[in-house]
Amino acid sequence: MSILKVARMGHPVLRAKARPLEKSEIRSGALQKLIDDMLDTMSEYHGVGLAAPQVHEGIRIFVAALDAGDDDQEDTEPIVVINPEITVVGTDVVDDWEGCLSIPDIRGRVPRAREITVRALDRNGARIELGAHDFPARVIQHETDHLDGVLFFDRMTSLASMTFLDEYSRYWRKTDD
Ligand SMILES: [Zn+2]
Repeated sequence: MSILKVARMGHPVLRAKARPLEKSEIRSGALQKLIDDMLDTMSEYHGVGLAAPQVHEGIRIFVAALDAGDDDQEDTEPIVVINPEITVVGTDVVDDWEGCLSIPDIRGRVPRAREITVRALDRNGARIELGAHDFPARVIQHETDHLDGVLFFDRMTSLASMTFLDEYSRYWRKTDD
């Protein structure tokens, strides 16, 4: 396994629409290696999610560690999500902080649907359906946006909360983190 280079904001791959994967491609050795490398890369850079376009691959796949940031919870296996289709549940929208490995050292407040369901394929090509709310739902929406060339800045309703990481830690981070 290897640590992949992460594309930073400005690289055109982050603005392109990624293509869906065929079921037959999913089981290939090359794709399975990419998934393992994405998991390693996410972990190496302490990300909670990583989408294929962020590692220069224009395909609809992301990985996410959905329990990250919550010390009260047991560590669960990261999820691998392929060709996700999100359905918003209800009308609640929550504003909260996001960051992105492709936009290093910046945080901003982004409105996202509180609750969603996701239909997708897992790394074996099997159909999965996930329900998520709050933080995990936010991560899934952020990563799925990457597959459509959308970055979290695009979703901010105001840039007033745009903050460097040092200032975020100093002024805005919740003290119970
Ligand atoms: Zn991101």
